[in-house]
Amino acid sequence: MSDVNRKSLFHIPDGVIYLDGNSLGPLPRAVPDAMASVLAEEWGNLLIKGWNAAGWMEQPSRVGDIVGRLIGAPARSVVMGDTLSIKVYQAVAAALKMRPGRKVILSDTGNFPTDLYMVEGLIRTLDQGYELQTVAPDDVESAITENVAAVMLTQVDYRTGRMHDMNSLTAQAHAKGAVMIWDLAHSAGAIPVDLSASNAELAVGCTYKYLNGGPGAPAFIYVRPDLADTIDPALSGWLGHSEPFEFKLNYKPGEGIERMRVGTPPVLQMAALEFAMKAWEGVDMQEVRDASVALQEQFIAGVEGAVPSLELVSPRDPARRGSQVSFRFEHGYAAMQALIHNDIIGDFRAPDIMRFGFTPLYLDAGDIEIAVERIARVMQDRLWDNPKFKTRNRVT
Ligand SMILES: *Cc1c(COP(=O)(O)O)cnc(C)c1O
Repeated sequence: MSDVNRKSLFHIPDGVIYLDGNSLGPLPRAVPDAMASVLAEEWGNLLIKGWNAAGWMEQPSRVGDIVGRLIGAPARSVVMGDTLSIKVYQAVAAALKMRPGRKVILSDTGNFPTDLYMVEGLIRTLDQGYELQTVAPDDVESAITENVAAVMLTQVDYRTGRMHDMNSLTAQAHAKGAVMIWDLAHSAGAIPVDLSASNAELAVGCTYKYLNGGPGAPAFIYVRPDLADTIDPALSGWLGHSEPFEFKLNYKPGEGIERMRVGTPPVLQMAALEFAMKAWEGVDMQEVRDASVALQEQFIAGVEGAVPSLELVSPRDPARRGSQVSFRFEHGYAAMQALIHNDIIGDFRAPDIMRFGFTPLYLDAGDIEIAVERIARVMQDRLWDNPKFKTRNRVT
């Protein structure tokens, strides 16, 4: 068992091997009681006084600082709120304001669709000739030109786990005068990230994946501290105003990162996240990384040895992979359903990818051994070849 393993802090249902913490982290055991007390004491007894007495108003930046520690962001440079899609919109809108005259937003075809969709919507709203350019992940570097206002990339590809080199691409973007935006959805809590060292202007991410904040947990946004007082918040909501309780008729952005707040924060959901983040206290991200790579290598060797028909679509070099491993299989959906039926929980991404996430906080080598055995059985005995595993659910 590695030093980072703290499985006892998490509720993993009996017998389940959970290889989907990259999609929805499990429930930390401390959360239900802590939430019961937030509900009863704060909402229940404090009522509206909770905003002051229970620190609800400061919660988005207090929790932002806690998340910031895992991604190399200094205090007061990260704020929580909304969902990641919204934070992407805010980041890109702010970046475009920083580079008037440039019309291209550059991304890659490995990006998560909502990031691209949000940019498309923003472009339609602005209606000023902006253009979203998407190139293959390996072609990003050469596609950064002096027409590019912002480079927007997700560091770890949600399907394949392929990982971009954050520092080098940021330097490349800056060399061409473009603003760099990183989406850390599959990075925060998965791999060591040093936003300060990267010098990127903006970053965003979510907290229900590796950070275990629960379904619908709020997103985060980072603004490089030297820019935070000048950045233009496109979603100028009242809680990003400098004096929300003056109720002035015109918007005036708040100080620093506070201006990236929009409206009323999801207090209950963020309370769950704040309690969940206690599981990260004292955790060294490099140790998490080393443990994750060891589990991934064990998994790949085991699966490839037992089931040669599964094709590895993640980079073979662990240094180029995030914290997930994906295999391609024609009947991947049915195979994943059969695995889930056998208590090995991963997920499926169209058209044919079986995806497995590695989270050393609550997975160890023994779990991987069991997972490999069951995958071998499901595949060798064609247990997936059953009509009950072939009807697609809404969420795959
Ligand atoms: C998970 C994920 C999202 C999800 O966005 P929500 O608004 O939280 O639903 C967006 N972008 C990336 C890169 C993701 O991995």
